[in-house]
Amino acid sequence: MKNGEKLKTIDNDLLLFSTQKELGELKERFFEFYVLYRLSKTLNFCLHAEELFNKITALINDILMIEDFCIMLVDEKSGELKIWKTNSKIYEEVKDVSFRIGEGITGIVFQSGEPILLNDVSKDERFLYYKGRISAIGSFLSAPLKLDNGQIVGILNLQKQATNGFEENDKRLFFAAGHVIAHTIERIRRYENAQRSSMFDDLTTLYTRRYFLEACHREYCAAERYKKNFSIIIGDIDYFKYFNDIYGHGLGDEILKKLAHLLKSNVRQGDLVCRYGGEEFTILLPETDKEGATTIAQKLRTIVKNAFANEIPDGKVMMVSITFGVATYPENGKTAEEVITAADAHLYLGKESGRDRVVNRLSNEDSCNKSEKRESNRHKTALKIVRGINHIHYVEIKINDEDWRICTIRDVSKKGFKGELELETDIDHDYMRNTHLCKIIMDTETGSTNIFPVRIVHAKKTNQNHSSCYLIGIEILDGLDSWERLFVTLRY
Ligand code: GH3
Ligand code: MG
Ligand code: MG
Repeated sequence: MKNGEKLKTIDNDLLLFSTQKELGELKERFFEFYVLYRLSKTLNFCLHAEELFNKITALINDILMIEDFCIMLVDEKSGELKIWKTNSKIYEEVKDVSFRIGEGITGIVFQSGEPILLNDVSKDERFLYYKGRISAIGSFLSAPLKLDNGQIVGILNLQKQATNGFEENDKRLFFAAGHVIAHTIERIRRYENAQRSSMFDDLTTLYTRRYFLEACHREYCAAERYKKNFSIIIGDIDYFKYFNDIYGHGLGDEILKKLAHLLKSNVRQGDLVCRYGGEEFTILLPETDKEGATTIAQKLRTIVKNAFANEIPDGKVMMVSITFGVATYPENGKTAEEVITAADAHLYLGKESGRDRVVNRLSNEDSCNKSEKRESNRHKTALKIVRGINHIHYVEIKINDEDWRICTIRDVSKKGFKGELELETDIDHDYMRNTHLCKIIMDTETGSTNIFPVRIVHAKKTNQNHSSCYLIGIEILDGLDSWERLFVTLRY
């Protein structure tokens, strides 16, 4: 059909509407469709609450010629309707007004899910004039923001100073408009939740690793441009696996939360604290040099140690310590990633050299000299394994050459013990296949001494950070087969 013919047909159809009233109704419907079409079209791509509000305001003001309106949303905690947005003229007056379910026209609309139109508010006692905050209201229309599933997320209120400012048809129009707005609000909420969960860690409410890496990159760009430095601290809780084993995962989670709070509340506002992994935390310190960052890490280490020292759940003594690695741009890396890697390497060194410490560089002159000095003692080694105070929080292994030296444990039995291990072994020899029987002398809780045979299952020299390390694994052969393997890194 050609366009001309089409129009003719529409004209003929329109002639079928015999009265002016019917024609008027048809125009009304067209207008409603137009408004809803405009609303859907403009709100379709809205992803932010502010943007949504601006678009709704423009539509209500420009097309519907209504100045005063407000959107109230259901507060999840109280279940009450609270002001979300209003046009600027009335915001200050009504911003803290809220309605319970069934209270006032707004509360009734929320309860019933149906719109209410008052052409003269003075004749309806249910109308509360926003709890007496605005008196210049003649007519009022309240429509629910209702989702497809029937859930009402809020209320759209429109008001005019004059009485009879709305028509009966407006109820239908704003009910439909409320539906579109409700779905847009829901979509925005889902989007914002997704944004928030990619930004904040659920357990600790600290920033996530992803957000941290983005922030590091931004900081790096600024530091490069303005020739400034920044530092990164990486902290990892010591022996947290054993903490979980002894006190349970629930208490472990509580420790993580408390720790997060401690870290966050003891750094500057511009510093960014993040949960980097399970029990690893990172802090980005803009415009902070190595010395400053090291001081902060030392302060945090002490705060953490003191904060947990007195906590005694079920009479158990709790010991929580953190090892920190510190690195600074540009001296430890030319990119943000390189600085993070350097901080991580420093943390690793801190773990290897005994934990509960702050390390801000890789090579240590002192340890190199000692390494050379002790080279000749390395064949006759003894390990001293000391149990924690009441329960086995962690186990220290000490090596006896000139004095007792702490070594790092990779894996230990859950059982506590105290004693010495004497072993004679060749360095650089892999004992994995070639097992050797040795002796472990252990003090029991009563102080008596037991001797256990042990088997060296692994002994390997590694060269880390320019100092000699010996990775040693032993197995206790107590006949009960209840000891786990001990893998120990020895640093001279
Ligand atoms: P160290 O860092 O001193 O070498 O020893 P560690 O035992 O802390 O190190 P490791 O990385 O082997 O273990 C980390 C442990 O942290 C493993 C897991 O039990 C614990 N962990 C990680 N994430 C969570 C968490 O969300 N909640 C709890 N309760 N524990 C966690
Ligand atoms: Mg870890
Ligand atoms: Mg750890």
